[in-house]
Amino acid sequence: MISLGFFPVRKILFNRSRCNMQPQKSVCVVGGAGYIGSHMVTLLKSKGYTVVVFDDLSNGHAEAIKDVELFQGSILDREALTEFFSQYDFECVFHFASLIQVGESVSNPSLYYQNNVVGSINLLDCMIARGIKKIIFSSTAAIFGSPLRSPIDEDHPKSPLSPYGKTKLFVEETLKDYDTAYGLKSISLRYFNAAGAAPDGMLGERHNPETHLIPLVLQHASNRQESFSIFGDDYSTPDGTCIRDYIHVADLCDAHLLALKFLEVNNRSEAFNLGTGVGHSVAEIIDIAQTISEKSFDITVLSRRPGDPSVLIADGTKARKILGWDPKWGIEEIIAHAWGWEKKFPWQ
Ligand code: UDP
Repeated sequence: MISLGFFPVRKILFNRSRCNMQPQKSVCVVGGAGYIGSHMVTLLKSKGYTVVVFDDLSNGHAEAIKDVELFQGSILDREALTEFFSQYDFECVFHFASLIQVGESVSNPSLYYQNNVVGSINLLDCMIARGIKKIIFSSTAAIFGSPLRSPIDEDHPKSPLSPYGKTKLFVEETLKDYDTAYGLKSISLRYFNAAGAAPDGMLGERHNPETHLIPLVLQHASNRQESFSIFGDDYSTPDGTCIRDYIHVADLCDAHLLALKFLEVNNRSEAFNLGTGVGHSVAEIIDIAQTISEKSFDITVLSRRPGDPSVLIADGTKARKILGWDPKWGIEEIIAHAWGWEKKFPWQ
C-alpha cells in the first residue's frame, strides 16, 4: 500500500481578522517552520518584510516562528492553497516545503513525487492564478548526481541518482516552462550541505529522524546518541572519508534575500549553486566537533552509504558575481553555532 505519510490539514493558527481586510504587500514562506525556512523567516522579519508562513508542520516546528502568521496546510491541498493566497497580496514566494531524505525517497518514491512534484505544481498553479510572478525555490546539489568534475558549476550535467534529486530537477525544469508560458520568474538555489544554527543559539536544525552528519555528531557529543558511525573510510580522499561543502544556514538565507532583490531588479529567472568552494571530510568534522564540544567520541566505521559520492564541492562563482553573495562563516563557526543550539535544545 502506498502511504503518503500524512493527510493534508487546513487550519489558520495565527490569523489576522479577515473583516474589512485590505490585501497587504508581503512575502510568503512555504515550509517556513522548517530548518532553513525558519531562519529565512527570521531574516526577512529583521529586514522589515511582512512574512506569512504556509506549512503543514509535518517536519516543521511552530515554536520556530512564534511571532509570525502561520497557515497550517499542505501543498497537496489545492483548496487550502487557494484560500490562503486569496487573503494576501504576495510579492514573492519562497518555497522550502519538501521532503529531503535521499534514502527514504528510494524506499518510498511515491511520497516524494507526490509531495515534492505534485505539491510544487499545485503551489505554482495557485500562485499563477493569484497573479504572483516571483518564486525562490530550494533546490539541491543532488540534481547533479555523481560529479564528473569538481568544483561543480551550474553547467555541470544534471543526472540525479535518487528520486529526491529527480523531484528537485523536475521542479527546476517545470519552473523554466512556467516562465515561458506564464511569465513566472524563478531563482533556483542548489544547496550543497546546509548546516549550522543561529549564532545566538535561538534557532537550529531539528529533523526527526536526524540523518545529517553535523547534528548527529553533536547529538553524540551531548549524549543524545549513544554512538556515532562513519559511513565508509575507504574513499579515494586523503583520509578515506567523504568530503562535503558545508554552508552555514545564515549564509544560505543571505543568498535567498539577494535572490529576491535580483528578481525585483532584473525580473529574470536564474539558477545558482550555493557552497563555499571548500570541502571538509567526515573525519575533519569529527575532529572539529570533538574540539569544540570538549568531548571524545565513540566512533564506529561502517561500510559506505549507498549513493554517497566521495567529493561534493560547489563552484559558487556565479552566485558571488551575479548576486554579490559573500558567505561569511567557516566550518568552525558552523559547528560552534550548531553546538550552541544543541546545548540549548529548547524544543524537540
Ligand atoms: N555521514 C556519516 N555518518 C552519519 C551521517 C553522515 O559518515 O551518521 C557522512 C555521509 O556518508 C556523507 C557526509 O557524512 O559522506 C555528509 O552526510 P549528510 O547526510 O550530512 O549530507 P549529504 O552529503 O548526504 O547531503
